[in-house]
This record gives sequence, structure tokens and C-alpha cells, in this order.
Amino acid sequence: MTLYDENNVFAKIIRGEIPSKKVYEDAFSLAFHDINPKAPIHVLIIPKIKVKTFQDFARDASPEEMKGFFNGMDHVLRILNIQGGYRIMANTGIHSGQEVDHFHLHILGGKHLGPMVCA
Ligand code: AMP
Repeated sequence: MTLYDENNVFAKIIRGEIPSKKVYEDAFSLAFHDINPKAPIHVLIIPKIKVKTFQDFARDASPEEMKGFFNGMDHVLRILNIQGGYRIMANTGIHSGQEVDHFHLHILGGKHLGPMVCA
């Protein structure tokens, strides 16, 4: 597991130290609107366990935590009810441009999203 910084912005959101525009929350996950949306719908979903990357989550989450997170994802997608499809992505590390070191999935939709990556 890579080192986890307790002071990252999403850890502060989980602890309620900074506000978020919440979409859904349960014991395992929290979903909220991205503060700088890149599409008409741009929601982030994070697990509540302290993991920095997708791989850390895959390795360290218990079956219950994993199931809980994906169950949260299902709730969020039903709440958002995105017409026309959507994209789910996770940035990891420097080349991806990951800004916040708490594993999160971006849910993007509400318009045609264009190519997966810029050339
Ligand atoms: P990433 O580049 O994958 O690490 O994405 C981090 C995302 O978190 C960016 O899209 C930011 O706009 C978003 N973000 C940063 N701070 C906040 C915040 N306080 N509330 C909501 N979204 C945030």
C-alpha cells in the first residue's frame, strides 16, 4: 500500500472538515459534485477507507468494503440517471494528472464526451 496523506482534501470532506455538494453517502462511500466540473454532470465517488489509488483499493479493501463501494456506485448512478451514457475514470499518478491522493472515480456525462484522451 502506498503512503496515505490524512490531510488530502477528500479525507477532509469525509471527516466533514470542508463542505461538499453531496449526491450520496453511506457507511462505505461518499459521492459529491466535482468543484471544477469538466462536463454537465461530473460527480466523484470515493470509498471511505484510506487508500490512495485504484490498485491500493483493489488490494486492501475487504470484500465487504469492495461490495459496499460498488453498491454505492449503483445508488449514485441511479440517482444521476444519466441519459445518453457516461464515462467512469480514475487518474493514478503523475502521468494521469492525479491531483487528490485519495482514490476516487470520476463519473462524467450530460454531453458527448469526445475522445478518451487528447493526442
Ligand atoms: P484527479 O485529478 O483525478 O485527482 O481529480 C481530482 C478532482 O477533484 C478534480 O476534478 C478537482 O476539480 C476535484 N476537487 C478538488 N477539490 C475538490 C473539492 N473540495 N470538492 C469537490 N471536488 C474537488
